[in-house]
Amino acid sequence: MQFGHRHVPMLVVEAGRAYRRWRAKGPRLGDYAPASTLEVPVTPIQRACFPAVNFHTHLGRWLSPDGSWTEQDVRSLLDLMDACNVESMVNLDGRWGRELEENLERYDRAHPARFFTFCHVDWRLLERPEGPELLAKSLERSVAAGARGLKVWKDIGTQVRAQGRLVLPDDERLAPLWEAAGSQGVPVLMHVADPVAFFSQADRSNERLEELLRWRQQHRGGKERFHKLIGAVETVVARHSGTTFVAAHGLYPENLSYLAGMFERYPNFFVDIAWVHLQLGRQPRAARDLFLRYPGRIVFGTDVFPLREGLLRIYFRFLETADEYFSYTDEPLPGSGRWNIYGLDLPSEVLEKVYSANANALLGMGPGKNVPA
Ligand SMILES: [Zn+2]
Repeated sequence: MQFGHRHVPMLVVEAGRAYRRWRAKGPRLGDYAPASTLEVPVTPIQRACFPAVNFHTHLGRWLSPDGSWTEQDVRSLLDLMDACNVESMVNLDGRWGRELEENLERYDRAHPARFFTFCHVDWRLLERPEGPELLAKSLERSVAAGARGLKVWKDIGTQVRAQGRLVLPDDERLAPLWEAAGSQGVPVLMHVADPVAFFSQADRSNERLEELLRWRQQHRGGKERFHKLIGAVETVVARHSGTTFVAAHGLYPENLSYLAGMFERYPNFFVDIAWVHLQLGRQPRAARDLFLRYPGRIVFGTDVFPLREGLLRIYFRFLETADEYFSYTDEPLPGSGRWNIYGLDLPSEVLEKVYSANANALLGMGPGKNVPA
């Protein structure tokens, strides 16, 4: 078969058809931005209805690639807090030693009652034979300097190794540290694991595929690994009943009956809702039920840095209104899964606890008073 010049128009027509067939399949997922056609109430909330404590923020330097402060200007941060009725923020970036001092100077001491800095410990100490006791001593020094809690990041359980062994939260070598937090009367804010979807294959069925492809965060070991980490948290909370633990990001917000069980079993167990309004808000009936049953165990927090007014107001709308089907972010595309959320319409006595009373009790424990009133 030969293609003479008389056949060229035929080929062009065929190519045009093929292109239209390809286009008809639609835009690439990354470009897809459907606008809801629902005409439903929109209730803007400018200010939290109680003076809020944002229990999960990053104001330090260790997360910035160039070592600069994540919030460059404390004055404008305070203005933002005032505008949104955020009374205080917990800064989870204190580190230890000199860097802790710099955080305390810049925030807690310069603006008393507006900022509460949590410290970290240096896991490299675990390479030394007396490492477990050194961690406890480090925490005691940091609390004496003014740290109001201990932050543990998800590198525990995934990256931190000592003497050749991966260190899980329930590793015996960490027991003195958890005990020290209890005797010092400071809460441990513990971020362990990641969303369950990060432990699943990054394939077409993964509900957080775009995020996984962006961050390449997939964990080896699959869901078994996830359950091992969550189980390790439970072991620690059970073993150290005199220490108060706040699990960051709701620990396992994909499974609210598991969380209810944790609240039932362990009075020293709390959660923050930082960046899981998007999980809670897509199961609004179960989430509301959880807040109503355990109002004293959940604290407000956001996690995003630098903090934005638009995002704070989405959290307020989520907690305070009965609005339906709205975006969990102020960004043009939802980056953590393609769904919308529903407001929880929480009663005022629950909001008062979640925004304010629970966090203030956790921050005000002090030595000898290691469980919040
Ligand atoms: Zn965080």
